[in-house]
Amino acid sequence: MSRIDEELHDELESLRTKGLFRQLRRVDSPQSPRLEIAGHAFLNFSSNDYLGLANHSVLKQAAIKAIEKFGTGAGASRLVCGSLAPHHELEEVLAEFKGVEAALCFSTGYAAAIGAITALTGKGDILILDKLVHASIVDAAHLSGATLRIFAHNNLESLEKKLQWAVAHTKESANRKARVLIVTESLFSMDGDLAPLRNLVDLKDKYGAWLMVDEAHATGLYGEMRRGLAEELGVTNRIEIQMGTLGKALGSAGGYIAGSRQLIDLLINRARSFIFSTAPVPAAAAAATAAIAVVRSVEGEKLRQRLWTVVEQIKREVVGAGYVLPSVRSAIIPLILGNEEKASAGAELLRERGLYVPAIRFPTVPRGKARLRLTASATHSAADIVELGAALAELKRRN
Ligand SMILES: *Cc1c(COP(=O)(O)O)cnc(C)c1O
Repeated sequence: MSRIDEELHDELESLRTKGLFRQLRRVDSPQSPRLEIAGHAFLNFSSNDYLGLANHSVLKQAAIKAIEKFGTGAGASRLVCGSLAPHHELEEVLAEFKGVEAALCFSTGYAAAIGAITALTGKGDILILDKLVHASIVDAAHLSGATLRIFAHNNLESLEKKLQWAVAHTKESANRKARVLIVTESLFSMDGDLAPLRNLVDLKDKYGAWLMVDEAHATGLYGEMRRGLAEELGVTNRIEIQMGTLGKALGSAGGYIAGSRQLIDLLINRARSFIFSTAPVPAAAAAATAAIAVVRSVEGEKLRQRLWTVVEQIKREVVGAGYVLPSVRSAIIPLILGNEEKASAGAELLRERGLYVPAIRFPTVPRGKARLRLTASATHSAADIVELGAALAELKRRN
């Protein structure tokens, strides 16, 4: 082995001994209730394709049409080679769907977080994050150069203390007023619990801070028009920056920021992950536009109702197998097993039984909080869920 490989091998070995080694598994089928892996069918309880749109004919047709008209690649950054029509159509539809003036799409949700947070905050500003926010937000915060404060998960008292600290410590800089930006998720990605958005907007108003909410797992699922949790709680126009992904319930790929026209114009001028990156492929934008149309239609409501039925059935099986569950209604159902090896072994046992459920470990979740993360889809059948229940019961017996 070469010197670099020897060194890397040691590092990988140390991951293996801690139960933290990860590997890719090739899938030869679309994301759907069954995945084909190495010639075998696995029941899929791992995808964030909550409404089953990733393999939906309307989205596929929209993508094919966009490829035929606009080709496969976007050519360059939208500021360099011109901005393709499918991106503009998507942004208009997104802004209307989210109930705001404007939206901007990015190549991924990760890039949206990086671009927005680093464009809006820098040295002299203060960022206040919920302890459990997604890695994209944490990375953006570090990159921004702003002073970072973390509040205890969904804990308003802890947040208020950080806000009081922030107000006392913001200095007027030469260029502009120092900013205080709170960032949280509406539905947390690994625990499936909800942020108290009404209290959060009251608090940020009280202290003159701004609020950014990542609706990655709530878009398409919550609210009368399925716009997200901000809609459900009636706080859409009190949130300065809405963020999300097109890759989960919307079954496509890409990320977005939605808000005022001024916000979006600033991001076009300042968000480096937007400016210095080739635009998303037109097919992805067209598929996302079609996804929003499906979500807003009668079919979207039916898919959501179906999803909640599946969630209730899964929870019944999980509780029947002897596991304890949080009480919120979400399509993310975590079975917290504790140590890393236990979660890995659990996922392995389920795979032997033909079920694909990911073990979520450090650093995605804190050490000692390793879990199996079940996700529900509107496309799961009652028989799929019974099969899951039987496998979970066996897992419980062995543990
Ligand atoms: C998945 C996810 C992202 C990133 O979105 P991608 O489009 O997958 O890059 C951001 N925030 C949260 C909470 C997520 O779960």
